[in-house]
Amino acid sequence: MENRRYLFITCILLVILTLGLAQTAFAGTIKTATVTTAVLNVRTGPSTSYNRIGTVTEYTVLPVLAEQNGWVQVSLADGRSAWVSGDYVEITSKNPSQKARVTTNVLNVRTGPDTSYERIGTVTLGTVLPVQQQLGGWLLVKLPDGRSGWISGTYAEVITEAEDKEQTAAKGHKIVVDVSALNVRTGPSTDHAVIAVIPQGTVAEILTEQDDWVQVRLNSGKEGWVAGWYVSVIPAESGSGEGGSIDPNAPLLGKVIVVDPGHGGSSPGAIGPTGLQEKHVVMDVSSRLAAKLSDAGATVILTRKGDWAVSLEGRVNIANNAHADLFVSVHANAHLNRSIGGTETFYYRGKKTSTASYQAAALIQNELVKALGLRNIGVKHGNFHVIRETNMPGVLVELAFLSHPAEEAMMKTAEFRESSAQAIFAGILNYFK
Ligand SMILES: [Zn+2]
Repeated sequence: MENRRYLFITCILLVILTLGLAQTAFAGTIKTATVTTAVLNVRTGPSTSYNRIGTVTEYTVLPVLAEQNGWVQVSLADGRSAWVSGDYVEITSKNPSQKARVTTNVLNVRTGPDTSYERIGTVTLGTVLPVQQQLGGWLLVKLPDGRSGWISGTYAEVITEAEDKEQTAAKGHKIVVDVSALNVRTGPSTDHAVIAVIPQGTVAEILTEQDDWVQVRLNSGKEGWVAGWYVSVIPAESGSGEGGSIDPNAPLLGKVIVVDPGHGGSSPGAIGPTGLQEKHVVMDVSSRLAAKLSDAGATVILTRKGDWAVSLEGRVNIANNAHADLFVSVHANAHLNRSIGGTETFYYRGKKTSTASYQAAALIQNELVKALGLRNIGVKHGNFHVIRETNMPGVLVELAFLSHPAEEAMMKTAEFRESSAQAIFAGILNYFK
């Protein structure tokens, strides 16, 4: 009798120990619930008899806390925990260190896992983003601005944290700060003390990465951790170790070029008669341009990589802190008189680099007029913040007039956007030759 009791206790202990080990083994994975119905009720307990405290919409992804009798306890965006019916969610286990690397020049980011969903931005070749969820060949990724969006898995490869770290370290990449101010901490979470605050555009060397955090070395020599979703990764020295097919005499090799898609987020810029917004046109053209420049060996920094707002000061800081060789701001024009159309390029007259700015503007304008065939308004002095305050040669391109119905229609086409990007690229190439 006594022996049996000990045997029983031993068995229980073994089960507890085994469960404990299993728990440890799975500590690296996270369970999430993706809502699969248009609107789903959120309740205080695991049955319909509990109070409804809110709703969540289709494709919302929520961390799973527990599962009970076909109900799932989830953590809501506001931090509260609540229950949803397991019939209307898809539970996925994922490795938190999974990332997606974009394998095409420009990839759309959408609100849902299908091309019928609204496009909320674009990401460019080589961008690495944390994967939050996978569904039917689509990946839900975390964007640099903290938002989430879906990209097609056909144009991205899923890699592990270790692979990304290895490749990033091997290339000697750096980060550039995407937000107006970023805390530098003693460790890789917000629990660690802040040791410095660095402004937008600051460039720092990457030492290592852990989860979504990046350990960096600042120019001052100080080392610390920053949140990876507030920074973009840029190659330390373009052409070294990557892009083996690029001719060592290529004119853009080693050049740092900042491409500035105008407007973004709450600032749409000009809006055409049928509603086409400048911010979307210039983002697409800028992304295409960035890919071409990067393929030709340049280090390219986009002042925004998606549809979000960046201040004029922020855009200038990015270019000045990166010590760019050229700054190119891309815009579309508008006029109260809808019959006015054409292409014009601006430079700023009163700065040290005005002569070089004029040369770049003239070469780009020449290619744009050839490619687009619109009225040549010419190269002009423009007192615009981004080309006035940047230290390097800078131009501001106005591709065409969104207020002109025929030009708005042209700007909707992929052909126009590709021709514009190709023409600006050709002008930049001529400038550096
Ligand atoms: Zn504009």
